Order: sequence, then C-alpha cells, then structure tokens
Amino acid sequence: MQTIGHLINGSMSNNDSQTQDIYNPSTGEVSKQVALGGEKTIGEAVAAAKAAFPAWSKTSPLKRARVMFKFKELLEQNADEICRLVGEEHGKIVHDAAGELQRGIENVEYACGAPELLKGEHSRNVATDIDSWSEFHPLGIVAGITPFNFPVMVPLWMFPMAIVCGNTFILKPSERDPSATLFIAQLLQQAGLPDGVINVVNGGKEAVDAILHHPDVKAVSFVGSTPIAEYIYTTAAAQGKRCQALGGAKNHAIVMPDADLDNVVTSLLGAAFGSSGERCMALSVAVAVGDETADKMIAALQPAIQGLKLGVHSDKSNDFGPVITQAHKSKILEHIKSATDQGAKLVIDGSDAAPEGYEQGFFVGPTLIDHVTKEMHSYEAEIFGPVLQVMRVQTMSEAVQLINDHEYGNGTCIYTRDGEAARHFIDNIEVGMVGVNIPLPVPVASQSFGGWKRSLFGDLAMYGPDGVRFFTKRKTITQRWPSAVLREEKQFSMPT
Ligand code: NAD
Repeated sequence: MQTIGHLINGSMSNNDSQTQDIYNPSTGEVSKQVALGGEKTIGEAVAAAKAAFPAWSKTSPLKRARVMFKFKELLEQNADEICRLVGEEHGKIVHDAAGELQRGIENVEYACGAPELLKGEHSRNVATDIDSWSEFHPLGIVAGITPFNFPVMVPLWMFPMAIVCGNTFILKPSERDPSATLFIAQLLQQAGLPDGVINVVNGGKEAVDAILHHPDVKAVSFVGSTPIAEYIYTTAAAQGKRCQALGGAKNHAIVMPDADLDNVVTSLLGAAFGSSGERCMALSVAVAVGDETADKMIAALQPAIQGLKLGVHSDKSNDFGPVITQAHKSKILEHIKSATDQGAKLVIDGSDAAPEGYEQGFFVGPTLIDHVTKEMHSYEAEIFGPVLQVMRVQTMSEAVQLINDHEYGNGTCIYTRDGEAARHFIDNIEVGMVGVNIPLPVPVASQSFGGWKRSLFGDLAMYGPDGVRFFTKRKTITQRWPSAVLREEKQFSMPT
C-alpha cells in the first residue's frame, strides 16, 4: 500500500515510523497510508526553508511572480488528476472539485500581481526636504495548517501569496486527504521554484505542535475547526508568532416573506447540501420570517431535496458525495437524532441513504429539519453535514438577533426583494461575509476572506489585500539629505 511522505528541500522523503490510514469515503475502504511527521521532520523542513530564504527573499517580485504564472498553467494542465485525487480521498464530486480548484487558481492569479502588490507607499516632502516611505518585507519562514474540506483551495489561499512575498513555506495538510495538496506543491516545484522554498510535512497534532514551538517559524496561517483554531492562535501568540486562525461556522439565511421562493429553493439546495455540507460557508440554517413563509418554503424544498442524487465522486451526474469518515458520519447522525429528541420535526431523514453498491461508504442523505430552536444542541453546533435546519421567527429583527447571538459569524445571507430590508441587514448583522440573495458570499481573490466572532482568531483575514499584509512586515523609512542650504537647528520639542 502506498505511503504518502513529505516534500522537503525539493525531494520526497519519509523516515517516520508512524502512519495513519487514508480512506476512500465512497467505499469505506483504506486506500493509502500517510506518514505522520513530528519534531524531527519539521526540523528538517525548517532547516531547508531557512537555507532557501536568503536567496528567495532577494529574488525580485517579478521573478517570483513568473514562477506563479507557470504554476497556474501547470494547475490547469493537471486539473483532471487534481480533481481525481480530491475525489478519491475527500469524496466530493468531480465538478465540485473543479470549482474548488478554480477558486484556488484565482488566488494564484492574484499572487501573480506581486510587483504591484509589493510596491510600497511613498510620501514626498512629509516635511521640508524629507521623504518617507514604507516597504513590505518578507517575514522569513512561515507555515500553513489546512483542513480536510478544501485540500486544494485552502492551501492555495496561503502559500502562493506567502511565497511571492518572499517568504519560504512549510505546509501541513490535513492527514485525512493529503494527496492532492502534496501534488499541487510538487507542481509548484516543477514550475521552477528553488528547492526548500515550499516544503510539505504530513502529520497531525505532533507536526502542528512542532511548528508552533519552532523558534524559526515566524507566522502561522491556520484554517480548521474553532477549538483547534483557538488552540493554534493562543499557542502561536504565546510563542511570539504572528497568527491568523480561521475556525468553524454556522451560516444562516434569512428568508423574508417577499423573497423569490423559486430562487430561494434552488440556491439553498447547493448551499446546504453541496459538498455534503462540508463547507465552512455551507448554509445550514434557514430562518423563515413568518409561518406562512416557512410552510411555503418547506413545501417547495421537499420534492427538490428528494430529487437530489447522492453518489461516487467520478460520476458527474451526482449532486454530492459521502462525508469524510465513518466517525464524522456518526456525529452527523447523532445531531439529527438529538434535534428530534429535543422536539424538532424531521421532514426528510437522510440517516440511511447509501447508494446501491456503496453501502459501506460514509454516505448521509440530504436531511431537512423543521421547528429547530436556539436551545437545541443541533443548532448550537456546527454539524458540517448535509443537514438543513429551519427556524421560524415572526420578525426580521428577531432573525437578526438570533444570528448575532450565535458564537460563530462566518457567512450569512438575506433573501428579499426589499432594498431597505437588505441595507438594514448589512448594517446590523454581526457576521464577516454577507450575501444579499447570494447564499455563499465567498469573497473573490481580490477581496479578503474572514469571519467574525469565534470564526476567526487574529487581526487579518485570509488572502487578497489582508494576505499581503499578513505575510509581510512593514519597514518605514524617513530620509533627509542635509545640505549647506538647510542645516538642522537644535531641537528639544517634538518636531511639528
Ligand atoms: P480540524 O480542526 O480537525 O483540522 C484542521 C487542521 O488542524 C488539520 O491539519 C489537523 O491535522 C490539525 N489538527 C487537528 N487536531 C489538532 C490538534 N488537536 N492539535 C493541533 N492540530 C490539530 O478541521 P477539519 O475537520 O479538517 O476541517 C473542518 C473544519 O474546518 C470545520 O469546522 C470548518 O468550518 C472549518 N473550516 C473553516 C474555514 C474558514 O475559512 N473559516 C474553511 C474551511 C474549513
């Protein structure tokens, strides 16, 4: 059986005795093993990144960007292979994997603008004959730790930007589906990146802890669940590292009585069940304003949900695939049961929905639950499965309050035809990414991605302009050339 190793200093290596199984979630079978790196392997990766940093940080942004142009080309040429690897280990359908790849490539394209992004800021004559400017310098060795649900896109949120900014990088992919992540890093190497600029160490907690405690790692970019994000942020900060740690979510859509119901139903299907609900922006709660809105929406959702097709990643006609592991499937089923135990109404039960021939796969069918209330455990938790919960409120203010009271604040959306209601929603909602008739308001690569509250620990969001700031440190220079004409007087008060 194949064991996935590490990419260190331009070569594959694997000297770790510990391994973990990787499953094909569609069949439930173990398909590969992944090496679990620890302190020693991280040490080797840091040494390679340290050796590569002086030359790479001095390479011009234009030359660094040229590697990214080539990388984009290679990602496009190898799209089928990337999507196959994602499908085999994650389970998402090939069209969804292609979408993930495309959204990742958009971040590579943004990073290709490095000469423009790193231009700095200049002010001439801030005082007589004095000029001042800011430069953006790389931090040194930086690291990325990524989740299972976007094994291609989330790493592409991080390392293209970090690397064009002149840093060298250590990536620790999810141990549940590491192959596609490793493959894209190899493509970057192939694009002409010098050895040691990108290093991939596979593993779990031990590798993460080694990154967090290594004195030469200057910054950590993390995406994953909230308890781990909080741990990463507090540990990294205590070690004096810069850190951005994106966590979990509970994304609500408010459905107003005037909303275009056909549009609501069609877009909710993809937003709630696409990628089996395993997206941090998945819309998992529909808050209907008024019982009539709720009844109409559920009546329209029912047949639409029953028509969804569940199955294996390679069949393009499937709408979504399995969830990542048996343990995760069991957790989702527990949430469904707890909702009904606490009084919610199970409208469509997906607990037993494996497609024919894939009975051992980790499949959960699309599930619709009505009359969910804020005290229920299934409402408090991030289920991260194909489960749409419906809540009923009587006013828009009640809906806004409900969302603002939730511990997460990643994404949200309002469905309405009323511009005034939409504007009130935008102004008053305590969430980082907001949609108006857009259920998954994921910012494009030239914006930045980040939630509020316990969905993001740190000051800077991911990619876009915040990405440039996160992976650089500012140096501000104030300069004057004394001349015979202008001599400095003695001065003991603050210059004004
Ligand atoms: P996870 O937190 O279990 O794992 C994420 C990473 O942390 C992995 O690389 C893993 O190896 C590492 N890790 C896990 N346990 C650890 C521990 N105890 N100590 C140190 N490191 C540890 O997350 P996941 O299940 O892979 O991904 C799903 C979660 O990620 C969901 O909560 C989802 O909302 C979130 N997510 C958030 C965003 C966002 O942008 N906010 C995007 C994608 C996913």
